[in-house]
Amino acid sequence: MIETFQNYIAGEWVVGSNITIDENPSDLDSPVGKFGVVDAQRTLDAVGAAQKAQPTWAATTPQRRADVLDAIGSEILARKAELGRLLAMEEGKSLSESIGEAARAGQIFKFFAGEALRIPGEWLASTRPGVGIEITREPVGVVGIIAPWNFPLAIPAWKIAPALAYGNTVVFKPAETVPGCAWALAQIISRAGLPQGAFNLVIGSGRTVGQAILDAPGLDALSFTGSVATGNQLLRSAAQRGLKIQLEMGGKNPLIVLADADLDNAVQCAVNGAYFSTGQRCTASSRLIVESAVHDEFVERLQQKLASLKVGPALAEDTDIGPVASQQQFEQDLAYIQIGKDEGATLLWGGEQLDPGPRGYYLQPALFAAEPGHRIATEEIFGPVACVMPADGYDHALALANDTEFGLCAGICTTSLKHATHFKRHAQVGMAMVNLPTAGVDPHVAFGGRKGSSYGAREQGRYAAEFYTTVKTAYTAA
Ligand code: ADP
Repeated sequence: MIETFQNYIAGEWVVGSNITIDENPSDLDSPVGKFGVVDAQRTLDAVGAAQKAQPTWAATTPQRRADVLDAIGSEILARKAELGRLLAMEEGKSLSESIGEAARAGQIFKFFAGEALRIPGEWLASTRPGVGIEITREPVGVVGIIAPWNFPLAIPAWKIAPALAYGNTVVFKPAETVPGCAWALAQIISRAGLPQGAFNLVIGSGRTVGQAILDAPGLDALSFTGSVATGNQLLRSAAQRGLKIQLEMGGKNPLIVLADADLDNAVQCAVNGAYFSTGQRCTASSRLIVESAVHDEFVERLQQKLASLKVGPALAEDTDIGPVASQQQFEQDLAYIQIGKDEGATLLWGGEQLDPGPRGYYLQPALFAAEPGHRIATEEIFGPVACVMPADGYDHALALANDTEFGLCAGICTTSLKHATHFKRHAQVGMAMVNLPTAGVDPHVAFGGRKGSSYGAREQGRYAAEFYTTVKTAYTAA
C-alpha cells in the first residue's frame, strides 16, 4: 500500500481530488505515493484560516515561537535519514545529497528559532524636544509560499521558518512533482504547537492553486521560487494589486577558471557546480569560462572526471548523479542538447540517455564547447548540461561572466588575490564564490541575486526580516 499525501487546511488533513501517482524518477515502476489536489475554493479556505490565526500567532511570545520552530528543526534533524530517503525517491538527487538537504532544512528552522528571540528594533531621540521614536518590525500578515521541486525540503524551510518566526501565518503550495516532501514537512509542522490555521499546505497546479493564492484578498505577501516566466507573470499580477512579493528565479551562472588556478580544485568546482544535484540548482555553474592558456588541459581533466561519475538510481550507494527529476525536465534537457548541436556547439562529452537498470530519467552529464551567443550558453537549461568557453585573460573572462540577463551567482578559481578581489567587487551577482563551486550556500546568510534572477528582498539569514516584516516608526511625547 502506498501512502496518499494529503493537504493540510485550517488544522485538518484533506485528501483532495484527482488522486495522482507521485512518480519516482529513478524507477517509474515504483511510485513514491499518491496525492490529491485541492481547488480554488479550498485554497481560499486555507488563506481564510491563515488570516484568522494570524493575530493569535503574532501575539505569542518570542519564546513560544522559538520553541515551536526549534521543535520542528529538532524533528527534521532526528529524522534526516528517513526524510532524505523520501526526498531522494521523489526528486531524484542522490541519497547523500538528499540527507544533506534534510539536515539543512532542520538547521534553517533552528536558526530562525533563534531569530524569533532577536527581532531587532531601535530607539532614537526625536529632532523635537521631549519626543522619543521607536522603530519596530511587525509581521506582514498572511504569506503565500510557492515553491519549486528542486529543493523540496530546504526551499520551503527557508521560506516557512522566517515567515513563522516573525509572526506571520502561511499558505504553502509545493510543486506538484514533490507533494511527498511537502506532506512530510507539514506533518512535522502540524505537531509543533502552532495555532490551528497558522500553517496550511495546499497541493495543486500553479494555474489553479497558485493563482488562487495570488488572487486571495486575504493574502499580504507572496514568496516565490521558480522559473523566470512564472515569476514575471506573478510580478505583474502582484503589481496590479499592490502585493508585497519576493521572487527567486533562474540563473546562468559562470565559473571562471584563470591560468593560475589550482586546476584540480577548478575541475572539482566545475563538476560539483555544474552536475551535482543533476544540474538542477538555480546556483549551478552552466557556463565554464576558462583562460585560453589552460583551456585544453582543463577540458581534458574535466572529461576524465565526468567519465568516472556514476549516473544511477538516487538510492544506490555508488550513485554520483541521480536521474532528472521529471519527464518534463528530461524532455527539456534533451531538447537543449539538440538545440546545442543544431546551433553548431560541439558536444565534447555525454548528453546520451542512459539505461542503468530501472526505468527512469537517466541522462549522461553533457559538456559543450559553445560560443557566448549560443542559446545553450545564454538560456537556463536546469539540467546536467554545461558549456565551456575560452577567454583571453581575466578582463575578457569577467566581461563574458557578466554578459547575461541573470545575476544570481558567479565563481572564480584563481590564486591571484588581485583578480579574486576585483571579481568579488565587479561580478554583477548577488553571490560570488572564490575557489568554491557556485552552488552550495550557507543557511545563515543572505541568498539572492540581481538582474533577471531575483526581485525584492533577499532570503535567508537576518536579511529575511526585510521581506517577512514591515517596519513601524512610532513617536511618543514624554
Ligand atoms: P519550474 O520550472 O521550477 O517547475 P515553475 O515556475 O513552473 O518552475 O514552477 C514553480 C512553482 O510555481 C510551482 O509550485 C508551480 O506550480 C508554480 N506556478 C506555476 N505557474 C504558476 C502560476 N501561473 N501562478 C502561480 N504559481 C504558479
